[in-house]
Amino acid sequence: EKITDKLAALPQDGTYFSLEFFPPKTAMGFANLQARLERMSSALRPLFVNVTWGAGGSTATKSLELAEICQRQLGLTTCLHLTCTNMSRALIDEVLEQARALGIRNILALRGDPPRSDDYWEKDSPLSVDSNAEFTWAADLVAYIRKVYGDYFCIGVAAYPEGHSDQANPEAQSPTFDLPYLIEKTKAGADFIMTQLFFDVKAYEAFEDILRNHPSEVFKTIPIIPGLMPIQSYQILRRTTKLSHATLPPDVLTRLDAVKGDDGAVKSVGVDILTDIVGTLQKRPSKGPQGFHFYTLNLEKVVSQIVERCMLIGNIGELADEVAIEIVDTANP
Ligand code: FAD
Repeated sequence: EKITDKLAALPQDGTYFSLEFFPPKTAMGFANLQARLERMSSALRPLFVNVTWGAGGSTATKSLELAEICQRQLGLTTCLHLTCTNMSRALIDEVLEQARALGIRNILALRGDPPRSDDYWEKDSPLSVDSNAEFTWAADLVAYIRKVYGDYFCIGVAAYPEGHSDQANPEAQSPTFDLPYLIEKTKAGADFIMTQLFFDVKAYEAFEDILRNHPSEVFKTIPIIPGLMPIQSYQILRRTTKLSHATLPPDVLTRLDAVKGDDGAVKSVGVDILTDIVGTLQKRPSKGPQGFHFYTLNLEKVVSQIVERCMLIGNIGELADEVAIEIVDTANP
């Protein structure tokens, strides 16, 4: 199913969330992740799940395998990430065809970065290329998917509340520098925007305000899904925020520094921090249902705790009734 169709079916003031996974390296890793996905999807009921793509197509086979498990075997609405730089048109065509054959209706269209050999575990695909003038920017991929597939795919694009850090152009690290290109991606046919991870809620709010109030009105109603990374460890947090140029606000850092020697305490303070971030974002006026995207790093516990604490669990129908009865019972013993 298309994400946009699922969003249209939610109440205007509803909430939803998505979970992102990357393809494991080994068969054992796949078996473990499949079991985890089964548990997480039945307990938490995300609106959709994301499957990441390795730069230049380096994880093509494994990403498609994981996408098949999610979409076909587990019946989850799946959004497959697809990059275009250093990819041949033949590979892009093949992936889109396979995605369609698997029943996948959602693609996150990205430029990607040139592959670095030590980052990726599969040998570079023979179909990947050094560069491809046809696909220089994500906007080229969005336009191409629209041209070839019309409205078949719901297309998402990436945005960077604190600016995109580009090796080629490090000074251009500002949301306003990216803005014309985000407009271009949206005009080329993007249906939703998903953001880079952040911990600085004020920076995100300022960014969302820039988009929503933009005179061109292209961002007036498009869903903007904030990207959040649950805190799995102090080291991972420091590393990923450095790589993605996400600011750690002083109050967040103080709370974590106080417990940084204790892995368990870091996780639990991390759950508190993410719960606070979601709570703050939920207080904002939203154009339609309010979504949250979680970078899970393929881990289960902390993500599950955040989703439960923030009461984001999806499709509550019957379950809500049971919970309500339980609450009434405890209130009147
Ligand atoms: P673009 O939108 O093309 O922008 C890239 C840069 O170029 C920006 O700085 C922009 O300002 C600039 N730019 C764009 N168009 C032009 C133009 N016409 N002229 C001059 N400058 C221009 N990477 C992966 O490899 N696999 C994944 O699965 C993956 N998933 C992601 C999911 C999310 C939600 C996000 C936020 C990022 C993800 N990435 C992933 C990372 C992404 O591929 C990199 O950040 C990449 O460097 C930029 O991709 P983009 O789609 O934002 O590129």
